[in-house]
Amino acid sequence: MTKKSGSFKKPVVRKKRKTAKSVFRIRKRTQRHIQIIGILILLLLVPIIWINMNSQPSYESSSVSESPVPVVTSSVTSSTVSSKSSESAQNQSWELMLVNYQYPLKDYEPELRLVSNNSEVDVRIYDDLVKLLEAGRADGITLFPCSGYRSYELQVKLFTSKVDKLKQKGLSQEEAETTAATEVARPGTSEHITGLCADIVSIDYQRLDSGFADTETAQWLADNAWKYGFILRFPKGKEHITGVIYEPWHYRFVGKEAAREIHEKGITLEEYLEMNVS
Ligand SMILES: [Zn+2]
Repeated sequence: MTKKSGSFKKPVVRKKRKTAKSVFRIRKRTQRHIQIIGILILLLLVPIIWINMNSQPSYESSSVSESPVPVVTSSVTSSTVSSKSSESAQNQSWELMLVNYQYPLKDYEPELRLVSNNSEVDVRIYDDLVKLLEAGRADGITLFPCSGYRSYELQVKLFTSKVDKLKQKGLSQEEAETTAATEVARPGTSEHITGLCADIVSIDYQRLDSGFADTETAQWLADNAWKYGFILRFPKGKEHITGVIYEPWHYRFVGKEAAREIHEKGITLEEYLEMNVS
């Protein structure tokens, strides 16, 4: 019995001791493993965190980052423009986007909607433009948007064609380009690329010349367009600011609030932005 029990007890004790020892060893090993895994995780995390910290996008010069439409990739190259006003001018909301000889725009494709036979505009101004056309009709004025969005490529064609005609008259390449630029915007500097403007004429008078200013249609537009968020973009006497001759047919959407102020003060979009830029 005692022998039996003794021989029975011994291995139990041994086993117990062995178990305690191995448990201690396993625990130690596990602790070491945890330490190694921890170090490995740390080694993996450090470069990831570092990369993330360094790849944070800078929003300082982003123009319309909140807009769902394509971001303006303006190539502001003119050295005559102060960097402050150049950044600020492009930091406005989409309807105040500035494109002129100082702020060219090349790669830009707004979402378009057909407003007349062959004229498309940015979908976001479509409703207001239609309201303007309807208001004209209600007053007995038949408005006709004859030109809306124009791609960079189309502007290149228009400009080149004008330059070629002038060269045929004996002007040098440089002279022809300078003269052409007074009537046709140099590629990239035309506001038509924004899709936010339209050349609006009447069915009876469709020529884009100074004679249009004397029509009833031009007068009606000058008096009423602002109510629908549109401004006469290139007024008479402001050529030194806009860089464009008086164009009584060219209307630009800027939103109702800005249009009211611009109309009331008789200023240009450039002046409005200068005044409202912080
Ligand atoms: Zn125009």
